[in-house]
Amino acid sequence: MSDPKPYRVLLFYKYVPIDNAEEFAAQHLAWCKEHGLRGRVLIANEGINGTVSGTVEQTELYMKELTRDPRLADVEFKIDPVDHHVFRKMFVRARKEIVTWRLEDDVDPSQVTGRHLKPQEWREALQRDDVIIIDGRNDYEYDIGHFKGALRPEVKTTKEFPEWVRKNLSEHKDKKILMYCTGGIRCEKFSGFMLQEGFEDVNQLEGGIIKYSKDQDVQGDLFEGKCYVFDERISVPINQVDDKVIGECHHCGKAEDRYVNCANPFCHLQHICCEECEVKFRRSCSDECREHPENRYELDNEILRQREEQYRLEKEHGLKVLNNTDEHHQQT
Ligand SMILES: [Zn+2]
Ligand SMILES: [Zn+2]
Repeated sequence: MSDPKPYRVLLFYKYVPIDNAEEFAAQHLAWCKEHGLRGRVLIANEGINGTVSGTVEQTELYMKELTRDPRLADVEFKIDPVDHHVFRKMFVRARKEIVTWRLEDDVDPSQVTGRHLKPQEWREALQRDDVIIIDGRNDYEYDIGHFKGALRPEVKTTKEFPEWVRKNLSEHKDKKILMYCTGGIRCEKFSGFMLQEGFEDVNQLEGGIIKYSKDQDVQGDLFEGKCYVFDERISVPINQVDDKVIGECHHCGKAEDRYVNCANPFCHLQHICCEECEVKFRRSCSDECREHPENRYELDNEILRQREEQYRLEKEHGLKVLNNTDEHHQQT
């Protein structure tokens, strides 16, 4: 099967004891740099959480290399075809946790976690009327796309969830809970936390929104809007059955789901902005930011133009290298 695009984004995680996290991180970073991968990988004593981009060949090699480690042999990769790298650099960091929860009572998801639902089971469960659907992501992620009927979490970071749950859901411990996140990782501890809190029936979407969108049967059904991602794409389409726009332009209120960062470097507020208003407001969240002397709108556009030129050259160069190899093979 040939790949539809020259590059790919990989998304993966696994909760598994890694006792040499620091050393693992250093070696992993060196390997990634040497092989041209870009992205972010977090390593902790509790596991690995990563997303990387590279050419089809680079990502194939990466998956092979990572799964050579017996601890990671069964890691599941979500694969997205893309036109070019979606990260600027490669970061590999050793951390305390692969998702920052800082729970008073830490959860080991290999011991305590909610039931995993496959995409089809999830779609069925979503349509029941006796369930509570929790979006396990942050409020700004919810705002450009979420499952129909899901509660909007009033949180800016994962750490704020325990308090939000205690304040809003304490009376519903007997209800069937359905929770989801981008790729499944955040729900692993979140669902464990809820079980510890006394919720009886806690369920999580296996592989998250991304896997759900790729499932041949459900094809992202009942997800409304786009899925926020933590790379240069900012969002990706999910629902192949009925794609609609959720969210509205910060300035004119028109239906819109593209996020931009305010061009005032001292503000940098991420806000939803339509293409027309981006030009009109020089990609700023307010008149004040628009007129700020260090507004980066024109500068950033120039950088973007140069980067696209670079992608074009890389592509040409890549093709040239391939052609050379072909000639070489023909000669020998
Ligand atoms: Zn607008
Ligand atoms: Zn601003």
